[in-house]
Amino acid sequence: MKKASIGIIGGSGLYEIEGVDIIEEVNIDTPWGSPSDSITIADVNGVRAAFLPRHGRGHYVMPHEINFRANIAALKMIGVEEIIAFSAVGSLKEEIRPLDFVLPQQVIDRTKSRASTFYGNGVVGHVAFADPFCERMQKIIPKTAETLGIVMHTGETLICMEGPAFSSRAESHLYRSWNAGVINMSTLPEAKLAREAEICYTVICMSTDYDCWKDDGDHVTVDMVVANLTRNAENAKALLKAILPKLGGKRDCGCVEASKFAVITAPEKQNPEQKKKLKTILPDYF
Ligand SMILES: [Zn+2]
Repeated sequence: MKKASIGIIGGSGLYEIEGVDIIEEVNIDTPWGSPSDSITIADVNGVRAAFLPRHGRGHYVMPHEINFRANIAALKMIGVEEIIAFSAVGSLKEEIRPLDFVLPQQVIDRTKSRASTFYGNGVVGHVAFADPFCERMQKIIPKTAETLGIVMHTGETLICMEGPAFSSRAESHLYRSWNAGVINMSTLPEAKLAREAEICYTVICMSTDYDCWKDDGDHVTVDMVVANLTRNAENAKALLKAILPKLGGKRDCGCVEASKFAVITAPEKQNPEQKKKLKTILPDYF
C-alpha cells in the first residue's frame, strides 16, 4: 500500500497544512494499534506527502499517551521513507529566542514510561543511535530556512522530558548546565522508532518560550506556547513547502540499513508472533 514516501508529523499548533491538494484520508491499523489520527495524503507543490498530527486534530492526546509505535508503523506501512517532524520547544539558551527555529543534532532522553522499541517479546534488537537524526536530511534543511529568512539554530542538544507538567526550575538549570539548547516532550521515542523502522527522521523545533530558568522572564504557560505556536505555524508551513521538493532523492545515509544487523536473538529462538509483527515494518528481515 504505497501512498507517499515523505511523512510529516505535526506537533502542537500544526494540525493541518492548508493550501495543499488533499488526495485522501487514510485510516490504518498496525500490529501496535491505531495512530493518533487519520493520515492525510496530499500533493504539496507537486510532491506526495503523508501528514499525521501527533496529538490528533483537536489536540486530545498527551505526549506520554501517544502511541508512537502505531504512528511510525502506520507511516512505514504506507511507504514513508523520510519524516520531517515538527515540535514546539522551550529554549534553554538566551540566544534561542521565542519564534526562532532549531534543528537539534543530539537528544537526551528524560522520558520515563513510553514503549520505545518495536523489538522485544522474544526478538532482541539494538540499533545505533549515536547520531539520532538523519544527517543527510539535516544538510538540506538549514540552507532552505536561510533562503526564507527564518532564523534556524543548528548543532544544539534537545532534552526530551516526560511531562506533562513543564520543568521545575532546578531541572531547567540542570539541563542548561548540560549545555542543552531546547526542551520538548515528544521527540522520543519517535526518533528511535523511526530509526528501527529504517526511516530517515529529523525534527524541526519551534521555540515558544524560555522554559522557566530565566529570572526576568515570564515562565512558560500554555497560553504563551499556543500564541507563539500560531505565529510559528506559518513559518513552519512555508519551510515545509520549500523543503519537500528537495527530499525523495537517493538515501545514501545509514538510516537505510539501521535494523539490518540489529537482531541478536538466534533465529530458532525468535518468537514467531513477534516476527510476524516486525515483518509489517521490516519485510526484508522477517
Ligand atoms: Zn537518513
